[in-house]
Amino acid sequence: MPGRYDRSALAVDQATRDGGSAEATQVEFRAATKRYAGAERDAVHRLELDVPAGEICVFVGPSGCGKTTAMRMVNRMVEISEGDILVGGRSVRERSPAQLRREIGYVIQQTGLYPHRTVAANIATVPRLLKWNRARIEARVEELLELVSLDAELRDRYPAQLSGGQQQRVGVARALAANPGVMLMDEPFGAVDPINRERLQNEFLRLQAEVRKTILFVTHDIDEAIKMGDRIAILREGGRLAQYATPAELLMAPADQFVEGFVGADRALKRLSLMRVSDIDLWQAPLAFPGQSTSEVRAKLDGAEISHALVIDSDRRPLGWLSEADLAADTVPKRPSTGPEPVLELDDVMRDALSDVLQAETLYAPVVDAQGRIAGVLSVEIISEFLTSADALEEEHPAPERPLAER
Ligand code: ADP
Ligand code: MG
Repeated sequence: MPGRYDRSALAVDQATRDGGSAEATQVEFRAATKRYAGAERDAVHRLELDVPAGEICVFVGPSGCGKTTAMRMVNRMVEISEGDILVGGRSVRERSPAQLRREIGYVIQQTGLYPHRTVAANIATVPRLLKWNRARIEARVEELLELVSLDAELRDRYPAQLSGGQQQRVGVARALAANPGVMLMDEPFGAVDPINRERLQNEFLRLQAEVRKTILFVTHDIDEAIKMGDRIAILREGGRLAQYATPAELLMAPADQFVEGFVGADRALKRLSLMRVSDIDLWQAPLAFPGQSTSEVRAKLDGAEISHALVIDSDRRPLGWLSEADLAADTVPKRPSTGPEPVLELDDVMRDALSDVLQAETLYAPVVDAQGRIAGVLSVEIISEFLTSADALEEEHPAPERPLAER
């Protein structure tokens, strides 16, 4: 019997076939306010912000600042006291909580899995509510297990038989089951140990690159916020918005002392973990080839950006730096007295590259492309100039495309 749920389910199916996801929807907070009964002040006070479709917005702030409340107003687990929230341009007040829970995926820290249901049954929760037929549910469960990197064999296990990380993946799969346009995630990786947490974060960013949902993500950890967020909403006591900005903006220009204190004293370093070496304008060293006459090389050194010549082989791979002694000979040696190390790659995370340069105690480091060919030169000076320049603001990537520091 074709009911209205069947029709929405069909649309979801179509979207799944067409490329993996239903349209992500925009979420707008319009002076959204919550005051719990009997409370002296608002838990969330006139929250005003837009989360563009397909982006990750992280709510971050100290305990009790209203993060969970702000998020739960979106699917009406908490009723809005004043103001409004629009999902896909329509007020959540116009939809029933049951309807919203089908449109909006929800993931929490302790995963909230049903302990007496198998992994497959947990993932199938919403599709069952939507009365999908058995074959369709089976196919969707299989697809989701693969999407969240879970072994298909785990489908018949119970949550207690899984590791914390696996449970968290099941929680994400369950939230994605009916292809919602929006996902709410409340400290989703909070209960996982640091190593698995980093792995889950990275996996989740890769997943987001595929599914492109609109995601509201709560954490109390500023590093997680910077890593996961396309935008970050910093809340302070009393549910007030202190700043809403991209990670780079937040790190470049904290709005006030509260934000500055929350972001931490190592703001500049944090900014470097948002970038790759290829994001910066590298310098060029004069290049020399083994066997070349040193007088030719000396002529190139005059007025060069870098006053040292880099020797490269016939495949343009760096061999080392020419010293005064090397230059005193007639021709460029095959093995210059100073080796090229550390050799960086264009894809390296900027923060790792800086640490390599500092550790090697060298002034300059050659940077090579994926084929090992010289692309430019990096130095501590270039990095520090970059950090104080306006360019630093423009070098931003959406969270799923940002470098993942896994070293
Ligand atoms: P956070 O998630 O940032 O830690 P919450 O949204 O959970 O903050 O809480 C914000 C404020 O609202 C806190 O002062 C908290 O004590 C209060 N609060 C949260 N839930 C309730 C509730 N159900 N009833 C009354 N007060 C609540
Ligand atoms: Mg909370």
